[in-house]
Amino acid sequence: MRGLMMDSALTITSIMRHADSQHSGREILSVTHDNARHRYTYGDAFRRARQLASALSGLGLDSFDRVATLAWNDHRHFELYYAISCAGYVCHTVNPRLFAEQIVFIVNHAEDRCLFLDPMFVPLIEDIIDRVKGVEHFVVLSDRKHMPETSIPGALCYEELLDSGEADFEWPDLDENAASSLCYTSGTTGNPKGVLYSHRSNVLHSYASALPDTMSLSASDCVLPVVPMFHANAWGLNYSVPMVGAKFVLPGPMAADPATLVELLENEQVSIAAGVPTVWLGLLQHLENEGRTLSSLNRTLVGGAACPLSIMDEFREKHGVDTYHAWGMTETSPLGTVCAPKDGFENLGHDEQQHVRAKQGRPPYGVELKVVNDGGELQPTDGKAFGALKVRGSWIADAYYKLDESDAFDEHGWFDTGDVATIDNDGYMQITDRTKDVIKSGGEWISSIELENVAVAHPDVTEAAVIGVPHEKWTERPVLIVVPAADADLSRDTVLEFMDGKVAKWWMPDDVVFVEEIPHTATGKVSKLRLREQFHDYQLPA
Ligand code: AMP
Repeated sequence: MRGLMMDSALTITSIMRHADSQHSGREILSVTHDNARHRYTYGDAFRRARQLASALSGLGLDSFDRVATLAWNDHRHFELYYAISCAGYVCHTVNPRLFAEQIVFIVNHAEDRCLFLDPMFVPLIEDIIDRVKGVEHFVVLSDRKHMPETSIPGALCYEELLDSGEADFEWPDLDENAASSLCYTSGTTGNPKGVLYSHRSNVLHSYASALPDTMSLSASDCVLPVVPMFHANAWGLNYSVPMVGAKFVLPGPMAADPATLVELLENEQVSIAAGVPTVWLGLLQHLENEGRTLSSLNRTLVGGAACPLSIMDEFREKHGVDTYHAWGMTETSPLGTVCAPKDGFENLGHDEQQHVRAKQGRPPYGVELKVVNDGGELQPTDGKAFGALKVRGSWIADAYYKLDESDAFDEHGWFDTGDVATIDNDGYMQITDRTKDVIKSGGEWISSIELENVAVAHPDVTEAAVIGVPHEKWTERPVLIVVPAADADLSRDTVLEFMDGKVAKWWMPDDVVFVEEIPHTATGKVSKLRLREQFHDYQLPA
């Protein structure tokens, strides 16, 4: 017997309609190259998205054609998210920080027919234009007055294109399982792989991410996504924030500038901000140098890489800000877990609380996790047994775009994340490494992440990364690479003394090397691949 309930499609269009009818007057502030503080409302944004969708249909696109964006977090990018997906095309966000070769691969693989780009990326496209022949239209995200000089043939001006659209464009009825958007993984090895999201997966992900134990979003919030819209949908905030009707603050090309971030956080009275740990490191350092504290921010969502406890402590103690440590990946839309406390957490001692906080957290309803050993057997959930982390659920990829086979997906519908993790009795998952970064010493595994967390807790350590280097007897041994704070007087021995007793003896790094900078990937994570290349000839001390 079927239930007798309405079957309204879970589409991104329905999020837009809801936000437009319930939160039309709520503000979106955006930083763009042509306006340092652009202000308008959800009502304005969706009116413009409708006109833009009409203009897109005038470009001769077919259903589900891919339309690419190469853009920062600003109001135009926000409009594109809705105009493209709700008009029945696929919004393909491209990461401008990738190498040119990767961008060429991605645009060609996706068969993008149209590409919207921020003026800043005009030179990048001019350089590769001969290698992305399938793109028929290039649209620069600008008004006419600020259009840059360009050799891109027939480059269109965004504001003019939008003005050419009809205001009464009718949004098509879409199947909730229809493709809505596409994002490629950063692909540290091999070619990037495409994750093709559906309307339904995005809507369910938004519902879950707004829950109290995930991001706890509400109409009274003011949200600042530092995490880019070109990487895993800015953690879904482009959908969940309008869904609840929170104010949206978009930092545009200034997202990496701590001074602008502080000004936006304070002037706009931001209550929640989301970003990777390196962003918060820079922000906290800036606040310290300026002797300032934050007045309105009450929580940050930190993910993309392990969040050191030192960041959480500083946020809480100096600024009264709670940290929600989250884990996810492009393939998981990206929300997989958030470290929200369970009942009884407040009764734990300080050390026990810190032990929980360091974990990546537990999955919301809609996501299942398991950890298996090399033989595929389920590992005990004792918080100690390591293994490959597998995941499945309503917003987890089931296959890669145009890739017939991948070892990552098994016959029981589980996706192998490539992460190594533990799960404890309470369901909290903790990432100990990427499969390819784990250090294998004497047949046992050493967690590089745990060592890094301990090292960055030293007040004079700005950033730390641990890699395994070959060892005749033990196969591999850990080496700690440290960026010291400015004017710090650090030595190998002072760092090792600080770590002594905080990790198992046999986990202690065999050496500490000081560098000025640690290489990062296009998504702001430490690039262990490049570090290993850099330390290729490194010899452990005798
Ligand atoms: P991406 O698909 O580029 O977002 O990368 C996803 C990967 O980032 C995951 O598979 C993890 O290895 C890593 N990652 C994401 N969040 C965390 C976290 N909170 N702690 C440790 N690693 C993380």
